[in-house]
Amino acid sequence: MEPCVVSGIPCQVLADARFLPAQRILACVSTRQGFDCTMVSRSPLILDQPEAFRAALDQARRDGKRVGLVPTMGALHEGHLALVTEARSRASFVAVTVFVNPTQFGPNEDYSRYPRTLERDVALCGSVGADCVFAPDVKTMYPDGELTRVRVDSISVPLCGVTRPGHFEGVATIVAKYFALSGACVAVFGRKDYQQLKVIERMARDLLFPVEVVGFPTVREPDGLAMSSRNRYLSEDARARAAHIPRALSASVRLFEAGERGAGALRQCALERIQRIADSIDYVEVADPDSLRLYESGEHVGERALVALAIRIGPARLIDNVVLGEDAAPCGEEAG
Ligand code: AMP
Repeated sequence: MEPCVVSGIPCQVLADARFLPAQRILACVSTRQGFDCTMVSRSPLILDQPEAFRAALDQARRDGKRVGLVPTMGALHEGHLALVTEARSRASFVAVTVFVNPTQFGPNEDYSRYPRTLERDVALCGSVGADCVFAPDVKTMYPDGELTRVRVDSISVPLCGVTRPGHFEGVATIVAKYFALSGACVAVFGRKDYQQLKVIERMARDLLFPVEVVGFPTVREPDGLAMSSRNRYLSEDARARAAHIPRALSASVRLFEAGERGAGALRQCALERIQRIADSIDYVEVADPDSLRLYESGEHVGERALVALAIRIGPARLIDNVVLGEDAAPCGEEAG
């Protein structure tokens, strides 16, 4: 039998792959020589109780492992899986949370229709080497009578903070709960939700959580559209219009690369392209990438600048961003 690996453990060490619990093996092919486990992927441990989750991560650390954490709301796509893979490369025990957090949705937002696909999510997590999926219910994470919310001032205020009041308080609160449960770990978040990443970095620092927060680049479709669980809301026409979002951001990147530093021009360049395709615009802004202070149109940006937008196309609210001076253009030469 060729040497093969089951979740990092050479089969020879296990003596025989048949001794592994059946439910932890999705594919293990019997061959004439024995078992070929090159196809093996594991079914992660699924937990729904906070204390069990805490105990699993404590145990992993006692076993000498570094813990990686990837918080999600499920309906996983390749963007989420890239975060899990990144966590896998930085840690030896990776936990994914799957929880549609009600406190980060406004009253007229898509909480009730947000896609919930736990079984598929668990299989996908297993396919990229996650060890554990924490999928609690709402009452567990928000027990009756709890009174505590976490608010991160200043960086929660502009951009999405204007059109989604309370959103970042909901995000900071649920992520603080995850960090309180997880203990020392590396936590991976997407730069697609750039403001969220900044809020969480600051929250972890201010509340002294022993967590290294890592931002991972936005994973995009071949035409540049940022992957999102909400893309499934898009009709064919809306999807075609959404393809102009990365083109608009790319136009700002190219303008910046050509030497433009005027915040007004950099913003206008993206805005005019967005105006052609959006049903409505929450914002298109140029901001300082660290403080998130918005630039006035007469100001000049520095070595780096965030261009961030949130727009509505059909039933979907879509966000995207680039950091000028840091990110490459999200798609190639503009098609129009
Ligand atoms: P969500 O399930 O939308 O709450 O997202 C969970 C995590 O995945 C967050 O850290 C997001 O920023 C990240 N994420 C979502 N979409 C992408 C993407 N296209 N590329 C990279 N990260 C993403």
